[in-house]
Amino acid sequence: MGIYPPSLENLIEQFSRLPGIGQRSATRVALHVLRSNQNLAEGLARSLLEVKEKIRFCSVCFNLTDDDPCPICRDENRANGSICVVEGPGDQLALEESGGFRGRYHVLHGALSPLDGIGPEDLKISKLLTRLEQERIEEVILATNPTTAGQATAAFLARILLENYTRIKITRIALGIPMGGDLKYMDRMTLEHSLRNRMPVTP
Ligand SMILES: [Zn+2]
Repeated sequence: MGIYPPSLENLIEQFSRLPGIGQRSATRVALHVLRSNQNLAEGLARSLLEVKEKIRFCSVCFNLTDDDPCPICRDENRANGSICVVEGPGDQLALEESGGFRGRYHVLHGALSPLDGIGPEDLKISKLLTRLEQERIEEVILATNPTTAGQATAAFLARILLENYTRIKITRIALGIPMGGDLKYMDRMTLEHSLRNRMPVTP
């Protein structure tokens, strides 16, 4: 038995099932909903149901979308020649928000991790290869994360692509010192990578 009325206890319980929300945060959010006007509760409830009803995967790039194909795949003004391969929809969003890429994306929905039982067939890899057959792709940018799984995924994809698609340029996003970083606080692997991936200085 909780200290609050059962309906409020129930709401706290539902919120606390969300990732990153403990009992205290769940209680705070639930009490906020209770104190706020009816619009907030109605808007929240509607959005929760709508996101489950409407959001699906784009059948081309496997990004999250309300419409299939997604707006990026439909956009005629984006460069068709390059595909940026990412692990998840959050990574795609971060790159898109950076504004530095105007090509297409491909979302793998994970990274290779044999210890967790995640193999190539669990990711959207064969769909990527199909796209390389069907679309006129000149460059594949491997933008998986610089983690053990992300690096293994990039290496795996690079091997397949280099063997089978010799006319396509394969690139990997640069790994190294972050903007505003300080060398003396960098870990050994980051320093090693940034040295190995050093760039020529151009005028
Ligand atoms: Zn798409």
